[in-house]
Amino acid sequence: MKITIIGTGYVGLVTGACLAELGNDVFCLDVDQRKIDLLNNGGIPIHEPGLEEVVARNRAAGRLQFSTDVAASVAHGQLQFIAVGTPPDEDGSADLQYVLAAARNIGRHMNGYKVIVDKSTVPVGTADRVAAALREELSARGAESKGALDELEFAVVSNPEFLKEGAAVEDFMRPDRIVIGTDDTPAGLRARDLMKLLYAPFNRNHERVYWMDVRSAEFTKYAANAMLATRISFMNELANLADQVGADIEAVRHGIGSDPRIGHSFLYAGAGYGGSCFPKDVQALERTARQYDQELLILRAVEAVNDRQKQVLGRKVVQRFGANLTGMKFAVWGLAFKPNTDDMREAPSRVLLKELIERGATVAVHDPVAMEEAQRVLALDLSADQLARIAFKATPMDALDGAEALVIVTEWKAFRSPDFEQIKARLKQPVIIDGRNLFEPPLMTGLGIEYHGIGRSVLT
Ligand code: NAD
Repeated sequence: MKITIIGTGYVGLVTGACLAELGNDVFCLDVDQRKIDLLNNGGIPIHEPGLEEVVARNRAAGRLQFSTDVAASVAHGQLQFIAVGTPPDEDGSADLQYVLAAARNIGRHMNGYKVIVDKSTVPVGTADRVAAALREELSARGAESKGALDELEFAVVSNPEFLKEGAAVEDFMRPDRIVIGTDDTPAGLRARDLMKLLYAPFNRNHERVYWMDVRSAEFTKYAANAMLATRISFMNELANLADQVGADIEAVRHGIGSDPRIGHSFLYAGAGYGGSCFPKDVQALERTARQYDQELLILRAVEAVNDRQKQVLGRKVVQRFGANLTGMKFAVWGLAFKPNTDDMREAPSRVLLKELIERGATVAVHDPVAMEEAQRVLALDLSADQLARIAFKATPMDALDGAEALVIVTEWKAFRSPDFEQIKARLKQPVIIDGRNLFEPPLMTGLGIEYHGIGRSVLT
């Protein structure tokens, strides 16, 4: 099938590359010329396991092309996927300017039946706004061409994306579910048939597509992210209490997760959630509710707990080393908001680094892939003088020399079985503050390491 992907970021690039891998003819559009040039020169703008190979293979096969040419992109695909960003507006609602700009571009250039597929995460009702924006462009063109374009048909479909950064290719190729919202108009029914055809390769073992109306599909994406964020904040809040009462949140996690009604997934206490999705989607859903005079009390609390949790590592450093960290150095492992990505959006590491620096410390950091992106975003968070107090180290061990403590922020696999003797030898004193509960406290005690996890201060 001929497919256009509008927006070549995490979602657009993965979607485009994976759909090309299935044999489709994919045209990826972006407004960012540098990104398109990089892709056309064989580069990849993001770190995502397996993506580089899929992109290279399909470019070579001629099934995947990248361009900034809007007219050519609209002409190419009968299916037009919108995968542009929907960042939070000032009031927390989703900013739809990029989505609507994409819709207008389609209206400006389309010459035959098109299916517009909203893949971006967008508030309930956005498909109607996309259709209205497109229709407006069509009628402007229709006026010019004296009505000749009145017959042009299109349908707007909601097909939210559930991939996880760091496992995006795998998630796209082996999805738990594919949610598709369509309407029952003739154009909508025709769109449903095309979407069925597109996703047929994913349904060979069992049906993975959940068909529903457009608004329910739009809502499903927010409901999923809100539920996941709720589980994280719930566990983080209980972990903080576990620290107070002397219980081990890890034991509690196993104890409750074994109940199939609860399940084991997504119950890890930590340093708070970040990334480009949970924070903004929780906020956007709250904002939608407010437009209907409803307050989502649970989600308000989820957000407040997360804001507080992002400060937990800084708080633990202060509890241990005092409020004035002048003259002290700390080692930080992990900068990305989660492993296997270089994404630094809303990363808890940014809150920790700001606090350490503002309290007078110097910091040595290591992240396996996010160092370059971290330097870019930290330059936004900190002054040049403050940034100069952060040393970016090529290996995790190099970050340790002379530091008062090691603080772990991201649970990269490479941090899970470190050489503890070397850690002890290189730190000024053997203290680990672990924001991801990577190690067992008794093991640490046995090694002579002072260990502070999240919710693991068991009274013995
Ligand atoms: P991103 O910022 O990585 O990429 C968006 C891209 O769209 C950018 O390259 C930008 O230049 C481009 N763009 C903006 N306006 C454009 C236009 N008019 N025409 C063409 N290109 C344009 O964003 P992302 O992380 O891929 O997220 C995209 C959407 O998918 C968001 O709504 C997000 O909430 C949702 N989503 C993201 C993830 C994730 O893990 N990142 C997962 C599921 C859903």
